[in-house]
Amino acid sequence: MLADAGRRYRLCPTLGQAERLTSWGHTCRWLYNTALEQRQFAWQQRKATLGVTAQCVFLTEARKDFDWVADLPAQSGQQVLRQLDQAYRNWWNPQHPAGAPTRRRRSVRLSVPFPGQAVQVWRLNRPWGAVSLPKVGVVRFRWSRPLGGVVRNAVVSFDGVAWHVGFGVHAGIKTPEAHARPGAVVGVDRGVKVALAMSDGRMWDRSFTSAGQERELARLKSKAGRQETARRKRGAKTSNRARKVGAEIARTEAKIRNRRRDFVMWVANRLCAQHAAVKLERLDVKAMTATAKGTVAEPGINVRQKAGLNRAILDKGWGLFEAALANRARTTGTRIVKVPAAFTSQRCSRCGNTHRNNRDSQAVFRCGFCGHQANADVNAAINVRDAAEAASPHTGRAVRDRNRKRPVDHPPSVATTGTGNGNLPPLAWRLTCRPD
Ligand SMILES: [Zn+2]
Repeated sequence: MLADAGRRYRLCPTLGQAERLTSWGHTCRWLYNTALEQRQFAWQQRKATLGVTAQCVFLTEARKDFDWVADLPAQSGQQVLRQLDQAYRNWWNPQHPAGAPTRRRRSVRLSVPFPGQAVQVWRLNRPWGAVSLPKVGVVRFRWSRPLGGVVRNAVVSFDGVAWHVGFGVHAGIKTPEAHARPGAVVGVDRGVKVALAMSDGRMWDRSFTSAGQERELARLKSKAGRQETARRKRGAKTSNRARKVGAEIARTEAKIRNRRRDFVMWVANRLCAQHAAVKLERLDVKAMTATAKGTVAEPGINVRQKAGLNRAILDKGWGLFEAALANRARTTGTRIVKVPAAFTSQRCSRCGNTHRNNRDSQAVFRCGFCGHQANADVNAAINVRDAAEAASPHTGRAVRDRNRKRPVDHPPSVATTGTGNGNLPPLAWRLTCRPD
């Protein structure tokens, strides 16, 4: 019984509970980074791969040495190590787009994972539910939607705005054989000007920031930059004031992210409910938003413009949209079809004439052959709807391999239990990593 659906609720911890969860969040981040360093060390020094079981032994040692590690519930620590193991397995999986595991930065959201057995969930009354977490006790949350299944795991997180609890539940989702509206096909064109244009003429977009918010964010970021320069000059630690500014930036960015996610999921929900097939251009967002910086010997051109375009692409949440569609399609039976992206914006959807002069402007398409005039994005969406499915299936990983030199894969090998080999000292957690 694996978790096959996610549920996220707004958590309302008391001040004391929030303080403890914050401290645990930082411990989890430390543990993840330390365990990552240890795995890298073990591989570089002895060509051995540490698995979860071996690392759990080191975690037990570390719990004896430090009170603040021991304060974190043991199951949460083990869950963090399992997350790292999954990150490695994703990296080794050629079908998976993930790259090598990286360190968790202080600026990413805090999260504390729990296995399903460690938490209990019940409903208090109509608006409130309660979850019992190890060591912190009962915490209330807003019962904003039904749970709809058995809780398999839980994650408590803080995204800069609020605390949330997410449950992975086994809801027994079965993808229907056929969609409720067979034959309904829609093409979607993703753009920078308008986020999403549909082949039936609908256009969906919303802005995720207000002008005031953008100004505020720019002000805060320049302030953070000044503080960082001053800190470096003095060689001091990050000040409490700088921390506050950082938290304010995180808070504003989290708000923007929440709006984007809301929009993307709303659209995905609609498209999947109404159509048996959704056709999209096959885009490699990662490659498209690569920097134009170039190298010192061969500096790139139009670097600032490209950076602006990259920001615009990422701001629209194209990648998130694909993920939301795939997730939603599981419950509606919608087929997500990827088509080749080439020339969809230059081809006339009426006569098929393809020329780059077919665009009157960014927004208006006018065919130089038959004179067909339409909104450029809708014209492209119709082309996407009528295009045949792209033949060669490739993953993001394949494209990345082509575009970028990657380190040699770190293949699975026999797991070591820390007994050491040859003349090397035995592997101990303190030998391989330094607590920060
Ligand atoms: Zn034409």
